[in-house]
Amino acid sequence: MKVLLIGSGGREHALAWKLAQSTKLTKLFAAPGNPGIAEHAELVALDTDDHAAVIDFCRREDIGLVVVGPEAPLVAGLADRLRDAGLAVFGPSAAAAQLEGSKGFTKDLCARYDIPTGAYQRFTDAAAAKAYTRQQGAPIVIKADGLAAGKGVTVAMTLDEALAAIDDCFSGAFGSAGAEVVVEAFLDGEEASFFCLSDGKTALPLATAQDHKRVGEGDTGPNTGGMGAYSPAPVMTDEMVARTMREIIEPTIRGMAESGHPFTGVFFAGLMITAKGPELIEYNVRFGDPECQVLMMRLKSDLLPLLHAAATGTLDQVSAEWSDDVALTVVMASKGYPGPYDKNTPIGRLPETKADEKIFHAGTALKDGALVATGGRVLNVTASGATVVEAQAKAYALVDRLEWENGFCRRDIGWQAIAREKA
Ligand code: AMP
Repeated sequence: MKVLLIGSGGREHALAWKLAQSTKLTKLFAAPGNPGIAEHAELVALDTDDHAAVIDFCRREDIGLVVVGPEAPLVAGLADRLRDAGLAVFGPSAAAAQLEGSKGFTKDLCARYDIPTGAYQRFTDAAAAKAYTRQQGAPIVIKADGLAAGKGVTVAMTLDEALAAIDDCFSGAFGSAGAEVVVEAFLDGEEASFFCLSDGKTALPLATAQDHKRVGEGDTGPNTGGMGAYSPAPVMTDEMVARTMREIIEPTIRGMAESGHPFTGVFFAGLMITAKGPELIEYNVRFGDPECQVLMMRLKSDLLPLLHAAATGTLDQVSAEWSDDVALTVVMASKGYPGPYDKNTPIGRLPETKADEKIFHAGTALKDGALVATGGRVLNVTASGATVVEAQAKAYALVDRLEWENGFCRRDIGWQAIAREKA
């Protein structure tokens, strides 16, 4: 089968690397791809906003499956257009992508199907939002309803902070994403991510992960797209996974199907494991980045039949096997990230890697044959081992062999899991 992969980040490099190992694959194309993806796929200069052009390409090349990596093309309806054209596509419709695109939509679904999540109210004016917030008291969480590039959430430890966040949302700090505000109860516990495929009616659990969103060691400083991740998440015991499936994922699949928007693709559920059990913080409708990188390191099964089964409603006929090893990835970022940073800084020759190591490209380009850093998050240095301690040691040994003067990383990825391992 020929496959077209859409995207250009570390997540897509991990998907390309794994798809390229498939015994079912005859040819992999990627649009637009990156220099790492180019090792596994033919890059095509397709404008993915031009849905007709993507459809033409797929017909011309007889593409058997389109895999959409990032969320933006999904929200723009690329999966709908491809599906309307009779193509098999891994990724939800724009309507189903509201699970990520609108926090209010997801909270209402949770309320209708009794899915455990923080108590909440939706507001379209500041006065009512503030009155409710005062009544609830701090700590409390203020969220812009729409997609705000990960910046629309304020976990307010004081009432003043919460009221200021409400003013920020309604004064346009997050553009139209903040026209509606969700005020949500603060959930106390340990966070984990859970990944699960859906074909609209059947769920296939994948694996769990934990990430580090803050730029600084000890989880301090500004939020980023993610500075590192590991899988599995120790807090996600078999019992927690079973409860997550039963209490959160299965009712979501049922709810989406009953609302006429069956969900095809991957659920990336952000969970808080509280004293009561798993509670939903949010859904994303694509693989996490860099969580995907550690999932792909641990996946023993052929990825292509799994994604194809999700796209074609046959998930009940496949299963996924996982390595018991821990995989851990360290994000190498450009100095200055998540603030301003220099672009096109030179990266030396990447070190050779063993079978249990892999360097994924997230923000690189080739300039006159030499590798340069073009993004904030640039390389995902990934390794696996029998324990988090071992996976971490291997990943940092590999980091130390990189030659990139303008790069930096956190040196403590996995610290919570390591503290647990040592306890
Ligand atoms: P979100 O964009 O909804 O994932 O929120 C970003 C981050 O804010 C999450 O990863 C959590 O760390 C935190 N957060 C969101 N909602 C809550 C909540 N109800 N209680 C505690 N922390 C939260």
